[in-house]
Amino acid sequence: MSWIDPSDKIKNLPVYPFVKLERIKAEAKKQGKDLVDFGIGDPDLPTPEFILKAMAQAVRDPENHKYPTSAGMPSFREAASRFLERRFQIKMGPERIVSLIGSKEGLAHFPLGYLNPGDLALVPSPAYPVYKTSTLFAGGESYIFPLKEELGFLPDFEAIPKGLLSRAKILFLNYPNNPTGAVCDLAFLDQAVYYAKKYHFWVVQDAAYCEVCFDGYLAPSIFEVKGAEDCAIEFHSLSKTFNMTGWRLGFAAGAKDAIDTLAKVKSNIDSGVFQAVQHAGMVALDQGEQTILEMRKIYQRRRDLLAEALDSVGLKYLKPKATFYFWVKAPKGVSSEQMAGALLDQAGIIASPGSGYGPEGEGYVRFALVVKEDRIQEAAKRLKNLDL
Ligand SMILES: *Cc1c(COP(=O)(O)O)cnc(C)c1O
Repeated sequence: MSWIDPSDKIKNLPVYPFVKLERIKAEAKKQGKDLVDFGIGDPDLPTPEFILKAMAQAVRDPENHKYPTSAGMPSFREAASRFLERRFQIKMGPERIVSLIGSKEGLAHFPLGYLNPGDLALVPSPAYPVYKTSTLFAGGESYIFPLKEELGFLPDFEAIPKGLLSRAKILFLNYPNNPTGAVCDLAFLDQAVYYAKKYHFWVVQDAAYCEVCFDGYLAPSIFEVKGAEDCAIEFHSLSKTFNMTGWRLGFAAGAKDAIDTLAKVKSNIDSGVFQAVQHAGMVALDQGEQTILEMRKIYQRRRDLLAEALDSVGLKYLKPKATFYFWVKAPKGVSSEQMAGALLDQAGIIASPGSGYGPEGEGYVRFALVVKEDRIQEAAKRLKNLDL
């Protein structure tokens, strides 16, 4: 019995999937197991040296020890604007950009800015859990729509009842996609904008993996679609692009009123990003091109190794063109949890059960390529022991 019961919202929330994974991992480690850990999508490589240098310098400047502004330093927002222009040939001025304490923070706060009790958000399944939870925290309701393998894990907008499209204030999208590794093209984003304009809602596009691309594929920005700047907000993150997950830095770009609303929410909650971190982020965004090319090569090599390993034991998956995730199908009749359990018990391999990403994730497990090549080869050997 607790002194005071947590709120219903919190009490009824399932344990965040990775918290469970961490517990299982700690237990296996205690038993002295050598694990190959494809579990959490947290890059194993360190933040590049040139970014560390910028941080070391910025941290010594007393100007940076004060409260930041919640929308972010103009110089950081200008660097983000330059990055978007260089990468996507789009013009988003600094007034259309807000800095974030990681993009998760922004995604979690955005619904607070727009949802009244009972208002609707369209949320994909499987998905990053934050979209649904943040909708719940804001008092809104989620309509969960499926991402189906036969449609390349893209939504079928036609299949969403018109009444719900009309009621919706927010549509969450995430391409390149976690956990499925699916990508979209510009024609798809064009379709999303068409629906947003027809039914009047915000498209919230989570672009955390837009730089983690392979085989010459380059993920588009929704702002390459004409008119998207009126009805969309796109969330970018330095976490996966520059191995900076622990730094907590991202930014949102988009419609001016969406950005202003998000900044208003933030000004009442978090007061923004440590300025030294913003300085380091500026340097990363302005000078990170080479780092990004190298990062892509590393993950592409790992991807090819894991693909070979999965092929050799007949496991089925979609070979990712972007993100560092493999969405692997469990054999018929085997659940996500059973498959993840078998991988752990029989092969000392950690992968996360797909069911943690929503009902449509049942029957899959997710492998994150945050493991060095020699350990992927070790995993390849161990997979041969797997008996499902
Ligand atoms: C990792 C991730 C993020 C971003 O994380 P931050 O570190 O908060 O920027 C956002 N969306 C998805 C789908 C992710 O996997």
